[in-house]
Amino acid sequence: MLKRDYSLLGHNTFGMDVKAAAYVEYASVEELRSLLCSADFVPYRENFLVIGAGSNLLFKGDYDGLILHSTICEKAIVEETDEAVWVRVGSGVCWDDFVAWSVERDLHGAENLSAIPGEVGASAVQNIGAYGAEVCQLIERVEALDLDGQERIFTNEECRYGYRDSIFKHEMRGKYVITYVTYRLKKQGELNLSYGNLRERMKGNSVRDVREAVCAMRASKLPDPALLGNAGSFFKNPVIPRWQYDHLRDVYPSIPCYSVDDEQVKVPAGWLIEQCGWKGRTLGRAAVHEHQALVLVNRGGATGDEVVALAANIVGDVQRKFGIEISPEVNII
Ligand SMILES: Cc1cc2nc3c(=O)[nH]c(=O)nc-3n(C[C@H](O)[C@H](O)[C@H](O)COP(=O)(O)OP(=O)(O)OC[C@H]3O[C@@H](n4cnc5c(N)ncnc54)[C@H](O)[C@@H]3O)c2cc1C
Repeated sequence: MLKRDYSLLGHNTFGMDVKAAAYVEYASVEELRSLLCSADFVPYRENFLVIGAGSNLLFKGDYDGLILHSTICEKAIVEETDEAVWVRVGSGVCWDDFVAWSVERDLHGAENLSAIPGEVGASAVQNIGAYGAEVCQLIERVEALDLDGQERIFTNEECRYGYRDSIFKHEMRGKYVITYVTYRLKKQGELNLSYGNLRERMKGNSVRDVREAVCAMRASKLPDPALLGNAGSFFKNPVIPRWQYDHLRDVYPSIPCYSVDDEQVKVPAGWLIEQCGWKGRTLGRAAVHEHQALVLVNRGGATGDEVVALAANIVGDVQRKFGIEISPEVNII
């Protein structure tokens, strides 16, 4: 049932106190299809937004359209071989509950992505990533309905995954509502300990140990949105040509980078922001987190516009100092 004039305060981790003109939840594909084919949806066909847990959204103000939210919460093993299992998971399942479920069963693949906020549907939109892993390495297929209620299955290849990117952020934006994601998890395999000091933080050698180490590291670095509103990394790490990096290194010898390919490198946006003196600084009721320059926070009562103004100042300073354009990872609505 459609709820009107609905508060989104509990539906975005930035803690923006905004309202949606209308809000609806659906618990099954059938419920979603009948909603999309109903008269209720007609005024909103061009003006709706599907949300998960709202952990990558920044609302600049009230939303004058319809918010759709999945509560499809099934999880089932749909195929199994000696090496792997395929798990079909409803878009409304909490991502980290799925990771915990897979780790309990000693299934490999999702453990590095422990404790990332949000739901399964968004994982396939965002191509969530952390500690050297990206969810696109696990996604087998994504099920969705178009706005006429027709089902479509996207293969991994069709999702066109890139760094925090997918087809659902481009050509298919606003055209499909994701209902299920099927992940392929391995029954055994090498642990992925390549990233940072993950290996040193491990107490043993199982997927459970990876999960524990990742959860502990994340908890020590990232602000808890329940205590301090935020949406994780506000900016993407920019990818720049190697020649530009080499030139910058002559001026800033400590500038870090990760290799992307022969011609490009990725530079940590947090480092660039810190060098511009923004770490820990505030602008009105918005601020840059004191321990993590990539995270913008709501100090209490900030509006979306205040956060956007802070972000614009940072983008300008990074551009002026380094000639690099950083862009938001967060969806600004
Ligand atoms: C403290 C913190 C730490 C974080 N750390 C990380 C990290 O390490 N790595 C990382 O990648 N991200 C991280 N994030 C960002 C966030 O967790 C991810 O982007 C997550 O996938 C968002 O999930 P969500 O359910 O909250 O989606 P939302 O923020 O609600 O939506 C995100 C996007 O997905 C779309 N969407 C959501 N559900 C559907 C659906 N069913 N069908 C179609 N479109 C849909 C929305 O329209 C929107 O465009 C972090 C966020 C926070 C707050």
